[in-house]
Amino acid sequence: MAETNDKIVYMDNNATTKVAPEVVDAMLPYLKELYGNPSSMHTFGGQVGQAVVEARSKIADLLGAQPEEITFTSCGTESDSTAILSALRTFPEKRHVVTTRVEHPAVKSLCENLETLTGHKYKVTRLKVDEEGMVDMAEYEAALTDDTAIVSVMWANNETGNIYPVEKMATMARARGILFHTDAVQAVGKIPINLKELDIDFLSLSGHKLHAPKGIGVLYVKRGTLFVPFLTGGHQESGRRGGTENVASIVGLGRACELAAEKMDEENTKVKKLRDRLEKELLSRIPNSRLNGHKTARLPNTTNISFEYVEGEAILLHMNRYNICASSGSACTSGSLEPSHVLRAMGVPFTAAHGSIRFSLSIYNTDEEVDYIVEKMPAIIESLRKMSPFWKGN
Ligand SMILES: *Cc1c(COP(=O)(O)O)cnc(C)c1O
Repeated sequence: MAETNDKIVYMDNNATTKVAPEVVDAMLPYLKELYGNPSSMHTFGGQVGQAVVEARSKIADLLGAQPEEITFTSCGTESDSTAILSALRTFPEKRHVVTTRVEHPAVKSLCENLETLTGHKYKVTRLKVDEEGMVDMAEYEAALTDDTAIVSVMWANNETGNIYPVEKMATMARARGILFHTDAVQAVGKIPINLKELDIDFLSLSGHKLHAPKGIGVLYVKRGTLFVPFLTGGHQESGRRGGTENVASIVGLGRACELAAEKMDEENTKVKKLRDRLEKELLSRIPNSRLNGHKTARLPNTTNISFEYVEGEAILLHMNRYNICASSGSACTSGSLEPSHVLRAMGVPFTAAHGSIRFSLSIYNTDEEVDYIVEKMPAIIESLRKMSPFWKGN
């Protein structure tokens, strides 16, 4: 497999994705000759404005939404903040937010700031998860109060791929007059979404997680849902978000959504099959390895595996020597390796949480790449375990 060794084996698609060649092609005219401002009165700007209109409707189609429910932002993080802050401004008398312990830092950190930067004016309930990472619906129901302004629960988890029952949770929130936001950054393009019949008020997505460029996001706001902008300025986006549109990236995101609709089947058959084989082979070939996350209620592209008694960062360094790109579930903060808040919330034992590796695939991965990783990983883990003071195996 020397030839595979010369190129990158990229299985870190939950961190970011390759921009699809078709997306680049769609964008290029808007980086070159079609540079007008979509808000301008002249025809030159007008044709650029038309491209934004078309992209908006392609994105709406993928979500089962209406074009006027789509607002462009700079990223998933901005969309998440905008949704939650909008709800708090819509209901200034309500001071309570419900979320989970496994949210992406975009939501997690905003909720922490809501508590600490306001002198605890706001109260946040973070739902527990079980060892498979799932929430308890009875606990959720009990958490909803008359003081709750908004619920924010991710559609799919970036570390484990777990899919949360947001449709049902949104209905329960609506019944109590509470707004519902979902961070769907990892779900869009991987699993079918049809917002038309759902009680979801806000949904966030991000271009670079579905083969569009970095720096473009969307906030879906359901028709009829009260909305207060985060960025005010010009009258762009019907007054919902000031700032001149990132036209080329918007066009790219429109094309990426069109492609995602076409490739949805492939994602759930070919990609899922590759993921399943990778997971099964690694778990069976490497002793003391375990799956983190739910076995079935999971994205088709993600597997998170703990290799006990070794450090994730050390595994990644060894994988890097073979040009294999993945992520670990621990972040090196101030010299100490902290296991991820997601794995900690799931109660993954210390010895396993440290050695977790997330593989996240895409339609660009191949059987040969899975073979290559399956061939390299056992020796990597074995060599690291030989050096581990905690490893008592052989
Ligand atoms: C990547 C990601 C984000 C942040 O999106 P950006 O566009 O990078 O700001 C938010 N939520 C989830 C679940 C993500 O995976």
